[in-house]
Amino acid sequence: MLESLKKMFSGNEGDMPVSTGSKPDISREKSAELYEKAKNYFPGGVNSPVRAFKSVYGTPLFIQKGDGCFVWDADGNQFIDFCGSWGPLILGHNHPKVRDKVTEVMQNGMSFGAPTALENELAELIIKNNKFVEKIRFTSSGTEAVMSAIRLARGYTGKDKIIKFEGCYHGHTDSLLVKAGSGLVTFGETSSAGVPKSFAAETIVIPLNDREAIKAAFDQFKDQVAAVIIEGIPANNGLLMQDVEYIKYLENICKENKALLIFDEVITGFRLGFEGAAAHYGVKPDIVTYGKIIGGGLPVGMYGASAEIMGHISPDGGVYQAGTLSGNPVAMAAGIAQLTELLRSGFYKELNNKASEFAESIQRFATARNYKLKVFHVGSIFWMAFTDKDKIQSADDIDPASMEKFKVLHRELLNRGIYIGPSGYEVGFVSAAHTKIELEKAKRAILESLDVVFRNK
Ligand SMILES: *Cc1c(COP(=O)(O)O)cnc(C)c1O
Repeated sequence: MLESLKKMFSGNEGDMPVSTGSKPDISREKSAELYEKAKNYFPGGVNSPVRAFKSVYGTPLFIQKGDGCFVWDADGNQFIDFCGSWGPLILGHNHPKVRDKVTEVMQNGMSFGAPTALENELAELIIKNNKFVEKIRFTSSGTEAVMSAIRLARGYTGKDKIIKFEGCYHGHTDSLLVKAGSGLVTFGETSSAGVPKSFAAETIVIPLNDREAIKAAFDQFKDQVAAVIIEGIPANNGLLMQDVEYIKYLENICKENKALLIFDEVITGFRLGFEGAAAHYGVKPDIVTYGKIIGGGLPVGMYGASAEIMGHISPDGGVYQAGTLSGNPVAMAAGIAQLTELLRSGFYKELNNKASEFAESIQRFATARNYKLKVFHVGSIFWMAFTDKDKIQSADDIDPASMEKFKVLHRELLNRGIYIGPSGYEVGFVSAAHTKIELEKAKRAILESLDVVFRNK
């Protein structure tokens, strides 16, 4: 090995694996059996589409248990998990503090449909430590939080149209299941059957990272736009990091046009830091939505804003929004336990350092081997993209053909005990439960797998 190469890997010989070739497939017998059964009960055998492994090899794995950074499937295979239930599990699986609090609270009953002190407790944890929200409302999912935030923006401004960005996901509410048509500024075309064209006509879809497009949208629909909605850092279609100047531009153009800026922080909230992407950029969105991490693995969403804006929500105001299980005590308990851990001093610093070291060491290897791979990362979120572009900031920058490489990577990783989301458009998450030892193991597995991916490059 070249001396200079060795140095790149901080003197650690273990960083340079020898190519071991494809590994034999792990057994998926039990998972396959369960999947066959599930197909009788659920469309595609699943209760959320991406779980069906449609864009990767083989049947989906049925997970039996999780602990720390590990999950085990029905066949007894063990994996280091970087999916983390798609984001919520920032402390890892089955964290004792979360489990204990939930177990304690559930002894007193599961749901009352009446206020409980636990709602106050979680709200206080959030509002005291977050300068972007003065009043909040809990929901049971991220989708619900976003749907309600949109209604609030419309009710507050008295305007109907919404601007969204191609490449941002905001849950499955009708008016946001839209994609761009052709042209710079377009009405959305529905991206799902069953969404009326007339709903999509209220949503304007524009590319990310494009000042002309948003300017043109505001010009064309003068005084009709209630809100601009953007993911704090778009992380549902690759990791599309935006320049802070651009986000500030959005903030200003919203103000000029008396439209609200909605930050959908369902992934980034409590992930990049306790105050999410808004603090990361130093901008002040008018409405913020949270989900995923806030519920510690149980179903919780939330939207919040200034007391003045939130005053428009019923029963104080005229914007109706409700939920039988909203503020559910067991879910609140999980949220309280998890967020309490996140507030410990140094939590994010340690996690984010660990994650960036991990991402950067994979990048160094890929660069040294001349592999066309970029590991984009922010906080404890990472995304491996098969590209040689230095920046990927809009949906159009992603080459769909590169997903063939991801397919190979995914299979090789599973066969080496690494579980990541079953789609090349999905990001990965490092949790506090990933120790340096496991990250080192995972890194080796990733490097070996990359050797297989690029074997015939
Ligand atoms: C996951 C997600 C949603 C939807 O949340 P659900 O809890 O799945 O309904 C909305 N917005 C963003 C940014 C998300 O990542």
